[in-house]
Amino acid sequence: MTLTGQMLIGQHPLRGSGTAFRAINPATDTPLEPAYAGGDAAHVEQACALAWAAFDTYRETSLMARAAFLEAIAEQIEALGDVLIERAAAETGLPRPRLQGERGRTCAQLRTFARTVRAGEWLDVRVDSAQPEREPLPRPDLRQRHIALGPVAVFGASNFPLAFSVAGGDTASALAAGCPVIVKAHNAHPGTSELVGRAIARAVAACSLPEGVFSLLYDSGYDLGIALVGDSRIKAVGFTGSRSGGMALCRAAQARPEPIPVYAEMSSINPVYLFPAALAARGDALAQGFVASLTQGAGQFCTNPGLVVAIQGPALQRFVQVASDSLQHCAAQTMLSPGIFQAYQRGASALADHAEVAATGKAAQGPNQGQARLCVTQADAFLANPALQAEVFGATSLVIACTDSAQVRQVSEHLEGQLTATLHLDEADLADARSVLPLLERRAGRLLVNGWPTGVEVCDAMVHGGPFPATSDSRTTSVGTAAIQRFLRPVCYQDFPDALLPAALRHDNPLLLRRLLDGQREA
Ligand code: NAP
Repeated sequence: MTLTGQMLIGQHPLRGSGTAFRAINPATDTPLEPAYAGGDAAHVEQACALAWAAFDTYRETSLMARAAFLEAIAEQIEALGDVLIERAAAETGLPRPRLQGERGRTCAQLRTFARTVRAGEWLDVRVDSAQPEREPLPRPDLRQRHIALGPVAVFGASNFPLAFSVAGGDTASALAAGCPVIVKAHNAHPGTSELVGRAIARAVAACSLPEGVFSLLYDSGYDLGIALVGDSRIKAVGFTGSRSGGMALCRAAQARPEPIPVYAEMSSINPVYLFPAALAARGDALAQGFVASLTQGAGQFCTNPGLVVAIQGPALQRFVQVASDSLQHCAAQTMLSPGIFQAYQRGASALADHAEVAATGKAAQGPNQGQARLCVTQADAFLANPALQAEVFGATSLVIACTDSAQVRQVSEHLEGQLTATLHLDEADLADARSVLPLLERRAGRLLVNGWPTGVEVCDAMVHGGPFPATSDSRTTSVGTAAIQRFLRPVCYQDFPDALLPAALRHDNPLLLRRLLDGQREA
């Protein structure tokens, strides 16, 4: 399959007019063909006009038809075969097995949303039947369902070129909700984006859907992305990436005459708490598990354990020693792009300016290879210096030594919002854990016991979200089936004749939905 360097506006491949750019193979620091070029205002206009024209038809597709479309996308991605894996490996430096796993996750995610769509629970149908005899006033017939928000702009991340990119969780959940999607491709993996974008476009055609259901745009700078967010026909934004990028899109969305929600997943350092009994009983194993989690995938996970919190003493010293010994043997790993590598170098050395470096991994053997690093500081220093809380995207972590459990709580209270917080504990630690738990519930979207935060299951109960700056909206998740709720809004129909009601709300319940009927959930 030959890459063309073209955008996709509906079914139409089109070359952008902006400055040409190429993906860089981070393992060799060499550019990859073909050249891509960003679109301009006219391309944004065309894509948004098509998406708007498709919206009313697409949002009323039957549950079966929409689910079949999501499954068709998964099939089209799988049909790309090895070409997709080869290109993604060249553009990201990620190992092939990791990318094969990520493709599996991406397709499984699409199929999970297909099941969710079919089940129809997301419509959240509520019926309050008319009570004409009620005194002092009669009650009208009231029926609620959820409908799609409108066309959604999606900005994918560099660290998951498949699962958080063109056909990733934001796109899958927006399409599942009934929203047309316009993706602004990530410039670090334009070829991977083109392949997946064309797979989605093929699924649109195969399912006889309006072409505006999906478009893929490139940007030579940031102008097109900002213009896309500013277009009045875009009704929500999904974003994964840096805090600065997410905040730029939030500002653009808020500055519109009609502000819209931006669901941005941005920055998290994912504190790991080592409670005293667990640390004393199995500190060595915890140190090994920690280093494995920290260095996995060159540490390029939003759930990477960037902070360890524990009470100072011999058990913590031993933990740092064992972790340092293990970390010193970790090879430097190719990072996703020269930009991510340079940001890592800057972040890791800024951290080293303020904290003691306990260990570094093996030196780089090639371009863009990030060297793992473990730093240590006292809680007082952490509390006094905001620089120690900055996310270092890569395999660097900071251990905070606290004087006692009161200081552990003080550190917890001081933390910014997080995607995750992890508690390593034994039976004897339960009282201490209980005392910090209310603070962590306020700080994080997912709390884990005796595990590691890297690895995010796609399922119904998952929360991949959290208070700012982990995300721009802590009420939602960007992973798991609940992600669909970001792109829906409720509409109530009062005293509608049955013939005018949408199928989901009709009296005979033709979609067999489990409605909330007069206060009772139907079986
Ligand atoms: P990024 O630089 O924020 O880019 C994400 C997407 O947003 C890209 O399409 C990018 O365009 C666009 N963008 C960025 N800044 C923008 C702006 N000011 N205006 C308009 N569009 C903008 O994220 P990244 O490349 O994936 O990673 C960079 C950093 O993000 C990492 O070093 C790390 O700190 C953080 N990160 C966090 C997570 C997380 O989940 N928390 C995940 C990945 C990365 P271009 O393609 O043109 O650059």
